[in-house]
Amino acid sequence: MADFSFFMPTRIIYGAGSIKAEAESLELGKKALIVTGRKSAKASGALDDVLAALSTDYVIFDQVENNPGVDTTVRGGKLARDSGCDFVIAIGGGSPLDAAKAIAVLAVNDVEPLSLYTDGWSNKALPIAAVPTTAGTGSEVTQYAVLTIDEEETKKGLRGPDLFPTTAFLDPKYTQSLPLDVTVDTAVDALSHLVEGYLSNRASPMSDLTAAEGLKIWGQCRTQLEQGNLTDFVRERLLLASCLGGITIAQTGTTLVHALGYPLTYFYHVPHGRANGLLMGQYLQFTHKVAPDRVNQVLTFLGLNSVDEFVHLMDRLLGHYLDELDVPSHKVEEYAAKAMKTNNIANSMGEPTAVQLAKIMEKSIIR
Ligand code: NAP
Ligand code: FE
Repeated sequence: MADFSFFMPTRIIYGAGSIKAEAESLELGKKALIVTGRKSAKASGALDDVLAALSTDYVIFDQVENNPGVDTTVRGGKLARDSGCDFVIAIGGGSPLDAAKAIAVLAVNDVEPLSLYTDGWSNKALPIAAVPTTAGTGSEVTQYAVLTIDEEETKKGLRGPDLFPTTAFLDPKYTQSLPLDVTVDTAVDALSHLVEGYLSNRASPMSDLTAAEGLKIWGQCRTQLEQGNLTDFVRERLLLASCLGGITIAQTGTTLVHALGYPLTYFYHVPHGRANGLLMGQYLQFTHKVAPDRVNQVLTFLGLNSVDEFVHLMDRLLGHYLDELDVPSHKVEEYAAKAMKTNNIANSMGEPTAVQLAKIMEKSIIR
């Protein structure tokens, strides 16, 4: 294992009533831009808790769509600038959290948004307080902001140390309003971060700690997830597993699973975690050939005995969605070629080729 560094500067405040208990950690400046999706910040109760705790001025930007596009972040950045906001509060799933990060950059860097990918930015992003309402992306503890780029027909992550939120408030009660399908999709995203992080070429003894713990916690929830038995305890555990997944990928990056998942989301509107889950069984089959011990360790943490058991678990959770997913087989090569161009491939064990990626995708989604 190579030398490594570990950086995760976000203060995590976890537990019921965390916003009320630590209201002063929410106030990172004099005027907040509150960034949310259209409904869930209200439906989850998180927005009410933020407004009750906040003593500063604020403006609300509640226009973030799923898999946010660049234009949305430009509008949010302009609103922050025009209103004189000096910090951001992000409430929602990964979509509002990631949009908020890009908005925090654009608020203080009046530049073409796509130039952020090539040239970076000179002024540090506004500080961010993050309140997740899904248990999946772990975006509250990562330096990534994944945006949809229509010009390139894909999704792409911005990254920067100033994109780590300053504080993250994790209150499991905000995830109670999630419907079962979104709960499963997002839980599988968390699982994919833990699995891909553990199997990343950039894994380290430190990232193994968070990945292993997250996988064990996820494994304890899997039966209830299958049964749709989402008790408060399961919600608490999934939020913790998701946060551990975020801390992990902040160190290790993600692998070919995320790279192949993006075209399924971009072209076929498959929710992000679901796309990963549909691909993960074949990814484990592939990786087992080159790193059997690491893959077996993942299975043990999850309480499973074989890759086949993992494949069946994903199939029971998500397999029915394949009936409605119609990807022409001639497109698979194109998506594999696109995935090959991402940084994720270097993180994947076994130096996968475009042909192997296409095979993983084909076996996963074409029945
Ligand atoms: P999401 O796109 O943020 O939300 C999905 C849906 O769930 C939305 O309709 C949302 O409604 C709703 N929702 C959210 N919280 C809810 C709640 N508590 N109750 C009821 N409905 C709720 O889903 P996500 O899976 O959390 O985020 C996916 C995004 O994160 C993708 O763009 C993905 O690429 C990105 N991602 C980022 C990272 C990272 O490290 N930054 C890692 C993995 C994935 P509203 O629209 O009303 O909010
Ligand atoms: Fe993800």
